[in-house]
Amino acid sequence: MTWSHWQVPPFVTGVFFILGVLTLYWVTYNWLVSWVHQRRLKVADDVVNTWYGVIYMLVFVFSIQSLVAGTSTSWQFMNFQLIAVVFCAYFLNIRVPYYYFIPISLIYMFFNGSLGYWQSWAHAVTLMTFFWVLNETRIKCHTKRDSILLYLLVTIPFGGLLWFWMKLKFNFSWTLFAQEWLYLLIFEVLLYLYVTMLAHDSELKVRLARFASHDALTQTENFAAYTDAMDEYFHRSRSDNQPLSMMMFDIDHFKQFNDTYGHSVGDLVLREVASTVQTVLDANPLPATFYRTGGEEFNVLFPGTEVGDVKPVVDEIFEAINHLEIQSGVHKFNVTISVGVSAVVRDDQSPMDFYNRVDRNLYHSKRHGRMQITVA
Ligand code: GH3
Ligand code: MG
Ligand code: MG
Repeated sequence: MTWSHWQVPPFVTGVFFILGVLTLYWVTYNWLVSWVHQRRLKVADDVVNTWYGVIYMLVFVFSIQSLVAGTSTSWQFMNFQLIAVVFCAYFLNIRVPYYYFIPISLIYMFFNGSLGYWQSWAHAVTLMTFFWVLNETRIKCHTKRDSILLYLLVTIPFGGLLWFWMKLKFNFSWTLFAQEWLYLLIFEVLLYLYVTMLAHDSELKVRLARFASHDALTQTENFAAYTDAMDEYFHRSRSDNQPLSMMMFDIDHFKQFNDTYGHSVGDLVLREVASTVQTVLDANPLPATFYRTGGEEFNVLFPGTEVGDVKPVVDEIFEAINHLEIQSGVHKFNVTISVGVSAVVRDDQSPMDFYNRVDRNLYHSKRHGRMQITVA
């Protein structure tokens, strides 16, 4: 093995090339998603996946084609390009309207100097149909066993047809045709196995990350997530001179639910209260994040919002909880909360100064008869 001689069969090199391209996609995609999350940008992972996937694969397809475009062997990289198509259509399940393919195909054919060949047009139409059928197949299959079978049932004949058009265009032998079709099949199986493995790992990672940042009982974010967000929001509020408000509440006489009806009823109360608050927050346009910071203590952070704008939402939460009727077996009961609200002020040196003021407001509500809101 030297710089100029690399005695590995091209097929093996091809396999590692494909795996390398996918791994690079995966690593950079994950980096991009963490960057989006870190900045708390409101972009869904799916959107990043779709757009980054399309751009990445287009760059890949066009850049390898630029090495052979217009030559008598311009079909050389077709299997790699088909793998990119399968990856986008099936694994990323990118759903784009069919007419998006028209300019892409025309540009590709122009770039490749193949606009004048009817076989290339047949190839382009077959490719669009292939993409659409793969999209549909992915949506329709639910069980694992069916999915690999259907995947092969779609990819094998389409692969054959796509290579058949190229056989006609370049007039190469049936042996070469069969060989390329078989390589494609092997690549597709490898792609399936590799992506399934990567997806399994990333699902596990997502589950662990959720577990680390969320409270298992109420599904709200937990104390660790609260401190992270608070640090970031507080520093951003100082540096950008943006308002930051917080609502903190504690369930009144919560211990009585536990003592009278048992801990499972106490847990039910916590879940019902949390889901009521989340419903109100979801129905409001203000950006807000909701945390369980203690046993029956919760915080809501409103980045970029003044207390005056937060107050109506706080009132709405307070009312919704007052009207909440919780039923457990034959028992029905009501819950109330005591609330403290405040916003960051110039004198706050750290998140703790801000937190302490909201906490004092909450205890003011507690000391003055509970079931009330203190804003200061
Ligand atoms: P106050 O109105 O002054 O807030 O009174 P309280 O009874 O709500 O407050 P206290 O601090 O005396 O009691 C809180 C109780 O919450 C004590 C603890 O056992 C209970 N608790 C904490 N976490 C959980 C939980 O996850 N589930 C249940 N069921 N109870 C919990
Ligand atoms: Mg309490
Ligand atoms: Mg408490």
